[in-house]
Amino acid sequence: MLGFLRSSFRRPAALVLAVFVLASFASVSWAQTPDQINAALKAALEKYKGLKEGANADYIPALAKVDSAIYGIALVTTDGKVYTAGDVKSEVSIQSISKVFTMALVMEEQGVEAIEKNMGVDATGQVFNSIVAVEQYKGAEMNPLVNPGAITATSMVSGKDRAEIWNKILAWHGAFAGRTLTVNQEVFKSEAETNQRNQAISMLMYAYGHIKDNPLQATDIYTEQCSISVNAKDLATMAATLANGGKNPATGKQVMKSENVPEVLAVMATAGLYDDSGKWLYATGLPAKSGVGGGIIAVSPGKFGIAVISPPLDKAGNSVRAQKAIAEISTVLHGNPYEARPK
Ligand code: GLU
Repeated sequence: MLGFLRSSFRRPAALVLAVFVLASFASVSWAQTPDQINAALKAALEKYKGLKEGANADYIPALAKVDSAIYGIALVTTDGKVYTAGDVKSEVSIQSISKVFTMALVMEEQGVEAIEKNMGVDATGQVFNSIVAVEQYKGAEMNPLVNPGAITATSMVSGKDRAEIWNKILAWHGAFAGRTLTVNQEVFKSEAETNQRNQAISMLMYAYGHIKDNPLQATDIYTEQCSISVNAKDLATMAATLANGGKNPATGKQVMKSENVPEVLAVMATAGLYDDSGKWLYATGLPAKSGVGGGIIAVSPGKFGIAVISPPLDKAGNSVRAQKAIAEISTVLHGNPYEARPK
């Protein structure tokens, strides 16, 4: 091969051919061209644009007022290329998708065992804000993607006071998105006025010793964290950072330790789409997380992060269009990590 390369310097056409052959070997693991990726996004956008199923979440009053027509798709590859279709400017509140990143922050500060020991890493079989699920095992044997585990994870973030903890959480989310993020104050206020159930959950987690101190402060920070405002590109970049071993492919910053990423993805695979997590994994194989603001992120490890925003939700609480669009795009682009070709 070397001799061939050397001699091909005298024959430019042969050199071009050799470079082409080497390049296609190098990309054989995930050989999707920009045209294929753009076509997949565009096809999913068009196919589900007219879909009328689902409804905005309304148990947080401000969410009912969000424009149901927002529909944006973004995919960011692990080599930092950004593909978008539809409305990627409009922002929604991140809601439960934030639970993934606060869990990752706790792992970063205390190690992955801290999560497993405190709230567990198992599916509850109950809705995301279930009090029965807390009672069943006294606040253990659940996970950081349901409210009791998530509020507990927020309570585990270190800091001398509320401001220090909050600023750390906000900056951490921004590092994954690759830009400074802000809070949708209307959503924060609306949820803070109506989150008595989450306050009760935090008191129970405190009673069972999972939250060590100040449960209502943890609920308040958690509520603010859920109100962080994001567009589809922000979410896709956050997902792509997980797909890229914790290094943001857009900024080049190593945001979290690579060694903790598999555990983050495992919890997403177990409990990312509420009661439909099993159905989702069965259909796509992708670790993912949805939020009641209408966003879903999904991670194809080593390949890409993808996000879709569309507020109308199905009965399980997952965006109807986002599920369909992500599943379809990932199938076309071979994003399922369980897919392997026999050697
Ligand atoms: N802030 C919301 C709550 O606690 C998040 C719910 C969600 O997105 O699943 O109810």
